[in-house]
Amino acid sequence: MSLNYSKRMNNIKASEIRELLKLTQKPEIISFAGGLPAPELFPVEEMKKISVEVLDEQGTKALQYGPTEGYEPLRVEITKRMEKVGVKADPNDILVISGSQQGLDFSGKIFLNEGDIVLCESPSYLGAINAFKAYEPKFIEVPTDEHGMIMEDLEEILKNNDRVRIIYVIPDFQNPSGRTWSEDRRKRIVELANEYNVVIIEDNPYGELRFEGEFLPAVKHYDTEGRVVFLGTFSKIFCPGLRLGWVCADSEALNKYILVKQGADLQASTISQMQVAKFLEEYDIEAHIEKLRTVYRKRRDLMIGTMKEEFPEGVKFTNPEGGLFTWVVLPEHINARVLAEKALANNVAFVPGGSFFPNGGNENTFRLNYSNMDEEKIVIGIKRLAKAIKEMM
Ligand code: PMP
Repeated sequence: MSLNYSKRMNNIKASEIRELLKLTQKPEIISFAGGLPAPELFPVEEMKKISVEVLDEQGTKALQYGPTEGYEPLRVEITKRMEKVGVKADPNDILVISGSQQGLDFSGKIFLNEGDIVLCESPSYLGAINAFKAYEPKFIEVPTDEHGMIMEDLEEILKNNDRVRIIYVIPDFQNPSGRTWSEDRRKRIVELANEYNVVIIEDNPYGELRFEGEFLPAVKHYDTEGRVVFLGTFSKIFCPGLRLGWVCADSEALNKYILVKQGADLQASTISQMQVAKFLEEYDIEAHIEKLRTVYRKRRDLMIGTMKEEFPEGVKFTNPEGGLFTWVVLPEHINARVLAEKALANNVAFVPGGSFFPNGGNENTFRLNYSNMDEEKIVIGIKRLAKAIKEMM
């Protein structure tokens, strides 16, 4: 039997990362594949205590439906996170969602008709590409260098394509490239979006995970007309299992997200929201984030240092100032999917880069995550990977 599925299902494929993550559950695998935070840093004991307190103090409220917009004390706490990235926001500018991934899906639903154009960095986040694909757009990849999207190319594309409906960007420690946009480009993209009447979806899970270098405000900071929709999340600064993120936008756009949230799942989990709000009120989240930065900085240093020593000449990689990923470019004749199979045979996993390009190509690239494995495994894994690369070269 074959059911009559919608046309959009033709565009929806299993995420390569999710498939890989299934394989990497085996304990012998050294995985640089997912974007998983370090589990040993999750505040398990604190959350245990908080869970009991929430149920003791406000049990019936915690287990009840709540407003679609989100739990008010959490929205207040989220405005403080927005302040950290240079955005003054009011709790009414915030909608709590079930992870920022949901905000990507909603953005597609709100802004895209079939055949509309999404502009993204090249490469871009695979999860966003897959979420947008459900709404049957075309993608144009905007050329990108170490300072972010190249604004002259963006302008040219906007000039020549009147169906651009979304510019999707990850300006801080980008997934997958680890790159961070310069201040000039953050300002310029807003000017261009104003001129061509397009929304910017700014996806920012990693902005607070800066290890070094100068703080740069979010693109939303430069927004003059309410055309930047900012997506934030507790996944990378706290715990992804709680599935809590947020949309920060001006009222006109935010109201659309609220409507769509109602249709999707009514609201984010009341009890999760109360737990996170309590953690933020009673514990020191800044100290927690600082701990993450310290551990991830050390792991990045070790991974990049080992790559410099072990990878053969001709292999290029980024040295990110924060976030969770480094991006590797192999000589053109080497296919990273073949390398991935070879590495997996030696119990090392990573994500081949091809799927981060919505229009394909670039099969000589791959992404490495350094937040999830301990120091010893990072060194062993990179050495095994270097050996596999050398064999292919
Ligand atoms: N955007 C980017 C760029 C990401 O890397 C991720 C997670 N890997 C997400 C969105 C989704 O995160 P979450 O739904 O856990 O907030």
